[in-house]
Order: sequence, then structure tokens, then C-alpha cells
Amino acid sequence: MSLVWAAVGAAAGLLAGALLRGPVFRLSVPAGAPDRAACPGCDGQLGRWLPLRCPHCGRALGTPLVLELTTAAVLALLAGRFGPHPFTLALCFLGALGVALAAIDLSVQRLPDRLTLPAYPVLIVLLTIAALTGHDLAALWRSLLGGLVLAAGYLLLGLARPGQLGGGDIKLAGLAGLVLGWLGWRAVLTGAAAGFVLAGVAGLVLLAAHRVTLRGAISFGPYLLGGALLVILADGPAGAHFP
Ligand SMILES: [Zn+2]
Repeated sequence: MSLVWAAVGAAAGLLAGALLRGPVFRLSVPAGAPDRAACPGCDGQLGRWLPLRCPHCGRALGTPLVLELTTAAVLALLAGRFGPHPFTLALCFLGALGVALAAIDLSVQRLPDRLTLPAYPVLIVLLTIAALTGHDLAALWRSLLGGLVLAAGYLLLGLARPGQLGGGDIKLAGLAGLVLGWLGWRAVLTGAAAGFVLAGVAGLVLLAAHRVTLRGAISFGPYLLGGALLVILADGPAGAHFP
């Protein structure tokens, strides 16, 4: 763990979290509903750059600092663990986007296509740059296959148990598979399993606390992302395929 790079990651995460506040607020709406453009308190119109408080009524917009601090923590862990390598950029991109997606999923149980789909070309370009600069084309192929395998695996699970996994989960699994694939097939397999383990544990805890019923839907995105993050941090640059 490099403390210098962890600090760089934390600073980048604070900035990224601040930039993501607007999109998270606007996209936290039920599927098919128009973007949220007005204050939930007074219905006053909000600009593209989301202020901390509504300029019309003073109501706080979203929980202050949660998004910024969570993104800072995730990027500090990733940058501190992986250091100055082009692959770290790909990881941090998905890390920041993942925090935004998890926040939206927790509030409205969906992972908007408008965030997941454009992330594919961006992530593939970042991984290609990492592969070319590190002379590791094998890692790139593994990444692409990892994304495909994880998305296909989730698609099959979604078809086998309708209502449990949504289309957004499948698209997010493909993104996670891209970075897990870079680290190796063990990471793809354990990353896929870790999400279900985390969701299972959280489900039991929530059930015991009477926060959900057995048939109640829980957002899966945060567990998928959290499981992938744990596996990525545990695998780390010591992994066999890291240059
Ligand atoms: Zn207001």
C-alpha cells in the first residue's frame, strides 16, 4: 500500500464525488420517469451544477459529503494498492462510477443504462492503453473475455430466476468482469461469487432486523461492486499477471 498514491486517489475521489453529485441526483428516479430537475422540497428548478442546498428553499440536496467521502475512500484504496500504473486509471474510473451507480441503486433500485453503457467504451479504451503501455495484450484479451463471461453468467442467472437480477445488474457485471479479467480468471470467479456472498449476508442481517421481507427486492448493484472491490484489493499487483 503506497500512502502517497492513496492520498492522490483520495483527492481525485473527492473531486470525482463532487462531480457525480449532479448526475446521481438527476438519475435517482424510477425507470421511465424523467430526470429529476427540481428541488423535492419546493419544486424550484435546479441548474446543471447541483448546489449543496436548494437556492430557493435552502433544503439540503442529497446527504452532504457521503458521495464525496465514499468515492475518496474507494479511490484511495485502489490507487494506494495499485500505484502509478495505467491499469489504476481503469480501476479508478470504474470505482468512481461504481459509487454513483451504487448510490442510485440503493435509492431507486436501478442501474441506469445512461451510466453503464457509455462506461464500456471508456473502460475498454483505458484497458487498451494499459495493455499497450505495459506490453500485455494477453491481459486485454482476458479482460474482454472476463467481461463477456461475467455478463453472460449473470444473464443466465437472470433468466433462470426472473425478478432476482435486472438488466442493469447484467450490464454492471460485464463492467466488473472487464477489470476482474485483467487480474486473472481466479479474480473473475471469486469476484462473481463475492457479490452473492455479500448480498446473502446482508439479506440475512436485514431480515433479522426486520428491514426486509423474504420476498422483498434488494438492490444487487452495491453487493456486486463491493464484492468486486474486495477481490481486486485482495488480488492486487502481486497477482501473477500484473506487470
Ligand atoms: Zn427547494
